[in-house]
Amino acid sequence: MHSNLWVEEKFQDFLGLKFKVEKVLFSGKSEFQTVDVVETKGHGKMLLNDGLIMVTERDEFAYHDMITHVPLFVHPNPKNVLVIGGGDGGTAREVIRHTSVEKCTMVEIDGMVVDACKEHIPQTSCALDDPRIKLIIGDGVKFVAETQEKFDIIIVDSTDPIGPAQPLFGEAFYQDVFNCLADDGIVVSQGESSWYAMDIQQSLLKVLNAVFPKSYLYSFSNLTYPGGLWSFTFASKQYHPVDNFNANRVLASNLTFDYYNAALHSASFALPSFVKKGLAGLIDND
Ligand code: SAM
Repeated sequence: MHSNLWVEEKFQDFLGLKFKVEKVLFSGKSEFQTVDVVETKGHGKMLLNDGLIMVTERDEFAYHDMITHVPLFVHPNPKNVLVIGGGDGGTAREVIRHTSVEKCTMVEIDGMVVDACKEHIPQTSCALDDPRIKLIIGDGVKFVAETQEKFDIIIVDSTDPIGPAQPLFGEAFYQDVFNCLADDGIVVSQGESSWYAMDIQQSLLKVLNAVFPKSYLYSFSNLTYPGGLWSFTFASKQYHPVDNFNANRVLASNLTFDYYNAALHSASFALPSFVKKGLAGLIDND
């Protein structure tokens, strides 16, 4: 029926990435954004919020491995984890693979994203009914401002800094994140593209530096995001992401991964020179 249907992600105002669509599985508009799930020809099912690609079945493992296992293997005993955003469920799915984790609270603002993924993308949403995952449909900004809980790790798995995600890139939010992290807590956040959005990286790192003693950026290869090279920020009250990483714990965990591994963990903090130059004075990467 949709024999010549393509979906095009328009990124900023000068780039478009096109994917052949076999079938539209879901299209809706919530109070926050448009939500679409399509079956693509080359990348499996794809979730788009406001026309921007969130996940595809083909490469979601790279993003979810790296946003999750880097902090969870640096922290020696992560028990209580908070995910902000992440409505597709892929991050929470990876978090609870760690047997030390007793509870993973996920605060996603848009119930439509969760419902659409539960119905159409079980690959990412398959763990959302696990008893260790506590799903809250609500604003992550409000949640961190009000919670009395202390978290070992907070993962900010957000969209770009537009709409309801904008405050997730601001100082007030990170001050609250700092306050609800345990004394040795770690926060990892979706850190945008060094190719196309270094200005956002700079402003996010300025915010992190204002709140945390040290901040780092690490990168990974993402097949379907513009530019391919994507990043996460890492900030902690205590831990260095490489010096405090014990590679033996990865082996001992008996977990297997399609992207993450112990050598890549450390290597992901080695940045291309243009990134080091652009973020000079803002990151503590060696
Ligand atoms: N991997 C994705 C990426 O980088 O494009 C992010 C995936 S996840 C689907 C992002 C989620 O963050 C969205 O579903 C969005 O609704 C949610 N979000 C945006 N702002 C939020 C907020 N203030 N509180 C909680 N969730 C929020």
